[in-house]
Amino acid sequence: MIYTPEHHELMASIRRFVSAEIDPFVDEWEAAEIFPAHEVFRKMGQLGFLGITKPEAYGGMGLDFSYALAAAEAIGYVKAQGVGMGIGVQANMATPALASFGSDELKREFLAPAIAGEVVCSIGVSEQGAGSDVSSLKTRARRDGDDYVISGSKMWITNGTQADWICLLCNTSDGPSHKNKSLIIVPLKDAAGRRAKGIEVQKIKKFGMWSSDTAQIFFDEVRVPVRHRIGEEGMGFIYQMKQFQEERLDGAARRLASIELIEETADYLRQRVAFGKPLLDNQFIQYKLAELKTEIEALRGLIYMATHAFVQGQDVTELASMAKLKAGRLGRDVADWCMQFQGGMGYTWDNRVSRAYRDYRLGSIGGGADEVMLMVIARKMGLMDPAA
Ligand SMILES: Cc1cc2nc3c(=O)[nH]c(=O)nc-3n(C[C@H](O)[C@H](O)[C@H](O)COP(=O)(O)OP(=O)(O)OC[C@H]3O[C@@H](n4cnc5c(N)ncnc54)[C@H](O)[C@@H]3O)c2cc1C
Repeated sequence: MIYTPEHHELMASIRRFVSAEIDPFVDEWEAAEIFPAHEVFRKMGQLGFLGITKPEAYGGMGLDFSYALAAAEAIGYVKAQGVGMGIGVQANMATPALASFGSDELKREFLAPAIAGEVVCSIGVSEQGAGSDVSSLKTRARRDGDDYVISGSKMWITNGTQADWICLLCNTSDGPSHKNKSLIIVPLKDAAGRRAKGIEVQKIKKFGMWSSDTAQIFFDEVRVPVRHRIGEEGMGFIYQMKQFQEERLDGAARRLASIELIEETADYLRQRVAFGKPLLDNQFIQYKLAELKTEIEALRGLIYMATHAFVQGQDVTELASMAKLKAGRLGRDVADWCMQFQGGMGYTWDNRVSRAYRDYRLGSIGGGADEVMLMVIARKMGLMDPAA
């Protein structure tokens, strides 16, 4: 896959938006442990950035996923990864299944405002007792006439304290764990913007990604109409696995911007003198930075290959999992080496490298841990019992 001038134009306009509307405020948002998603998304929605792949009928641009990937790559340059993650959830994690399998009525009610940036959305898969093993989740939607009545809780929900709705994966029957789940859109606020009945939200304090608000959300007999279900009952697990492909490519693409840390570190080392010469004159440092850049470019190749196949309509579960695995590990490596080479300055609190070190650590845990990616890849390679 090779980016066209249109891809580059989109990336340039997102980079301009990031420089003007996001980067000047990220230090403040990091300190506040939340970014104002409604404000940022409204501006992004007006520019069309939140509906790049979504149908034009609902306000989207109707472009193929390569453009969403280019956008994610550009968003990766935000100077605090928490904001990029919140945007990624809105654009490529909470909304793909709704766009692909939701009814027209559901898309008008929930997708169109998400694309316009009028509402903030979230994705609810993980639970306190079910993170890596999604199939074992316990949140349940019981049928009562034309409604579902939902009880349970979701853990680690990005955008969770400010989200207007959640795309919830929950059990809708007692059948086998891959066939008993559905995706349901659950409003988290009522028409007046207050917390919806039966919903309780508790904020979680984290090691990194501070500008992203993360929450545990409790559902106590929450009633939603059956028409809020995305697609067919019992297909939620399958829809979510498909939705994960976009999530993993989005997250991996955001990590490509770590190349900027290498450039900044090289600039710093050009100025910093030790033993009578700039630190950058040490061959060990030159080679290490060269090796990291080579790995980033190799990751770029893998991501673009996966995206090309995805755009052709292929199932890229294996390639997207490989990209997510590699991006998670490489992001950590880049941040760690750049901190090492910046020495004490790299270890200071407000340094961009120390923030990246904290933020990038999530890459090997969130959205499926490295070991889960390895499990998916091993399964696709036929190394595992498919039932395991
Ligand atoms: C900041 C943040 C934001 C998040 N945002 C969201 C969100 O918006 N929506 C959402 O649904 N979830 C979200 N998550 C949840 C995230 O996807 C889970 O944390 C992740 O899937 C891992 O689940 P867990 O934390 O329960 O780890 P566990 O399942 O308890 O696993 C712990 C560790 O065990 C190891 N492990 C797991 N399985 C295996 C195995 N088969 N073989 C070997 N080792 C294994 C891994 O190293 C793993 O890290 C978020 C998490 C964080 C921290």
